[in-house]
Amino acid sequence: MPFTYRNRMPEVADILAEIPLPPDLAAIKARRDDEVRAVISGQDQRFLLVIGPCSADDEAPVLEYGERLSRLQERVQEQLILIPRIYTNKPRTTGEGYKGMMHQPKANEAPDVVEGLKALRRLHVKAIAQTGLPAADEMLYPENYPYVEDLLSYVAIGARSVENQLHRLTVSGLDIPVGMKNPTSGDLGVMLNSIQAAQGRHQFIYNRWQVETNGNPWAHAILRGAVDHHGRAVPNFHYEDIMETIALYGQRGLKHPSILIDTNHANSNKQYKEQIRIAKEVMTNRRLSPEIRQTVKGLMIESYLVEGAQSPTSTPHTRGQSVTDPCLGWEDSERLVLDLAEMA
Ligand code: PEP
Ligand code: MN
Repeated sequence: MPFTYRNRMPEVADILAEIPLPPDLAAIKARRDDEVRAVISGQDQRFLLVIGPCSADDEAPVLEYGERLSRLQERVQEQLILIPRIYTNKPRTTGEGYKGMMHQPKANEAPDVVEGLKALRRLHVKAIAQTGLPAADEMLYPENYPYVEDLLSYVAIGARSVENQLHRLTVSGLDIPVGMKNPTSGDLGVMLNSIQAAQGRHQFIYNRWQVETNGNPWAHAILRGAVDHHGRAVPNFHYEDIMETIALYGQRGLKHPSILIDTNHANSNKQYKEQIRIAKEVMTNRRLSPEIRQTVKGLMIESYLVEGAQSPTSTPHTRGQSVTDPCLGWEDSERLVLDLAEMA
């Protein structure tokens, strides 16, 4: 038999009943959804920062990070909306390596997806309870979205998934902002096709039903840099890249044209400290061009308690240091958030 059936997936209703989102926390999330939607639709002029570790590998340091972010949010609430990255599913370029909390609730132990689903729900619920900040996660496996549908205020579709029909159709049924990344090739047409598809109405199979969606008017672009034919990183956060994206957006007649800039990945070539300069350059360009100001509505920043990265299996293990892409450390991140609030 080609597949070994290890674990039957629990019913969505059973996991939601076991790890529910209490009504007071659901109200916090609903309010945040309104605020983030208002930024994308241009009614709220505040600037979004989707910020946090590349992957949420360990509950305690992720919650500690979120608590620090929550205190920072109070200081910058006039200018910025902070959305913690709690990324529980990691796309892997070659399929090898740590696949995130859903596959491995403990980064150095064997996969257990049932435990993983419970662990990630617990983490998202605790994070809202302790920080008041509903999170962003990547939708890597659309079929698993029903397990987290009630928890997130922002979703990203990754560079390796953005051309996939099921991702696009699933986004069309979400009522929160979803950032569609440019593919690793950098093809902006693919990204815009994806936004167009997500903003449309569709019928397809979701959660074992034939469902009908209304289209997601808050689906928008994330520029994350590209990789050329020689494997070299090609940034796309500069003034000209943004202007080109705005022009292409304009040809489509899409709703709420919006761009977030991802400061890490192929924009920094994973030179994580460069995120500081990249973020500030974007803010300067927002000042120089009213069009950029109107369209670039946020940044995505990779940041954790301790700067850099380590292997998921490294011993000794540094608490609060990324086990996937290298991140800014807390001091740099705090300084950057305060500077960005002044520049917003
Ligand atoms: C990420 O946000 O950590 C990520 C994997 O991004 P991308 O899909 O742009 O590579
Ligand atoms: Mn990353």
